[in-house]
Amino acid sequence: MAGIYIHIPFCKKACFYCDFHFDVSFKHKDAVLSSLQKEITSRANFFNPDDVIESIYFGGGTPSVLNKHELSTILNALHTQYTIAPNVEITFECNPDDLSSSYLADLKLLGVNRLSIGVQSFNNDHLKWMNRSHDSAQSLQCVDMAASVGFTDITIDLIYGIPSLGLHEWQETVERALELPINHLSAYGLTLEPNTPYQRLVDQKKYHSPQDEKTSDHFEALVAIINAKGWEHYEVSNFCKTGNYSRHNTAYWQNKKYLGLGPSAHSFTGTERHWNVSNNAEYNLKIAAVEQAFESEFLSVEDRINEYVLTGLRTKWGVNLEELNHKYGHPIVSLFANELNEWESQGWITISQGQLTLTSSGLLFADYIASELFKLKDEF
Ligand code: SF4
Repeated sequence: MAGIYIHIPFCKKACFYCDFHFDVSFKHKDAVLSSLQKEITSRANFFNPDDVIESIYFGGGTPSVLNKHELSTILNALHTQYTIAPNVEITFECNPDDLSSSYLADLKLLGVNRLSIGVQSFNNDHLKWMNRSHDSAQSLQCVDMAASVGFTDITIDLIYGIPSLGLHEWQETVERALELPINHLSAYGLTLEPNTPYQRLVDQKKYHSPQDEKTSDHFEALVAIINAKGWEHYEVSNFCKTGNYSRHNTAYWQNKKYLGLGPSAHSFTGTERHWNVSNNAEYNLKIAAVEQAFESEFLSVEDRINEYVLTGLRTKWGVNLEELNHKYGHPIVSLFANELNEWESQGWITISQGQLTLTSSGLLFADYIASELFKLKDEF
């Protein structure tokens, strides 16, 4: 199984918390799309002849700034250069203010079969506070429109931990989201990322930073509602109606091979990571000069163990301890027996039939537990 990620590095407005690569000027848009076409061709040898693409993910930035013709050109190039599975999952990230019934119908005709809509909040003050480009009414309307057009795989994003978001309002937000015609939800705690407008506003004491305690309370309330509604919590930040996992993201978490195309896109070969330049003009120059537009890093055995543990722990499938021993040729599980016992007695993990998974409360400590396990790499 293999996947392709396409990064569309343009946004109408800069959401203040965002540290993804994007440009609010569309001056380089045509040139970037032309470079992307060339990169689709030049990197076709990334895959083996028998690799079949089972998921394509348009992320950004904002893919919904693409018009029908631009999207169709990209998809045609992908179908020409790669072996695409007949039932490929094609996810398209979009912002509510870009969607109309006719645009949604075009997406569907072009083969998009999964929509990821950046709703973030139903509170217009919070949306303004984050500098989002849409309001709550647009979000609600476009999810309904998407369902009317025939999309059955719809996911939305929400943000919790906003300083002025009360617990009760957050609970109402989640309840309201789950009443929409969606089968998947991604919810992220607000974080203060370096070099973002949010960081500068906090430094200037104009905005408050997120508080860990509030973020944890919101997360616990979210998980409680998800469980009560019978949805699955299958990754720290991802929830779905039974079995409706994101095929593309699940492949990331299972360390499957994927190719990232476009400025700042990342790729993974199984043993190497590649990352494209995070600058639209530089990307165009490199592609025009037929130069490599990415840097790469070979992953050592220890790096691969770390990634397997970190990504596995964040999912409901957890980490298979025997596989960890065998896959990497080290009896590593015995090295952290004390830690496992301690975390088990604290109720953070369970171990059943050799499978280590985090409990709901343990999910709050996923990064801490993974970082403790990473320390053991020095013992190999
Ligand atoms: S629309 Fe998405 S990528 Fe663009 S600034 Fe906002 S959060 Fe970032």
